Amino acid sequence: METITINGKTHLIHSLHDDAVVFQTEDGELYTEHFSVNELRCKCAKCMKQKPHKMQPEALAKMEGIRFRMNRAFSPTSAYRCAEHPEEAKKVKKGKEPGQHNKGVAMDIPVYGGAQRYQVVQEAIKAGARGIGVANSFVHIDWREGEPMSWKY
Ligand SMILES: [Zn+2]
Repeated sequence: METITINGKTHLIHSLHDDAVVFQTEDGELYTEHFSVNELRCKCAKCMKQKPHKMQPEALAKMEGIRFRMNRAFSPTSAYRCAEHPEEAKKVKKGKEPGQHNKGVAMDIPVYGGAQRYQVVQEAIKAGARGIGVANSFVHIDWREGEPMSWKY
């Protein structure tokens, strides 16, 4: 696998999509310049960011591209979620499948106010996001299969 050295640290290059580089740890976990392994892991009480995430490289690259163009520092409210994460468990309890976070193709981006909310929605559409959920304090974006959709919380 190709490597690159940044600030004296060697990174394994997993892949490059849409000009965004996705790196990989020696254990095979993905990360990018702006999203660390820890930020991408499930935060549920059982995982507590201690278990590897399963974010998908193409979606992660698109999120990194959005982050780069927004030029605003933030930590995702939610990225990968295991099937036992309360939000995913709710869906399973209703007889549905776990959602896009569990598939590793979704991220919730915190927003403060309408201008930031608009910017995230605009960048998400530009990046081909197929699911956009708008809440007061965050915008959910995903790259789902099937029909694209938008909703409010
Ligand atoms: Zn979990």
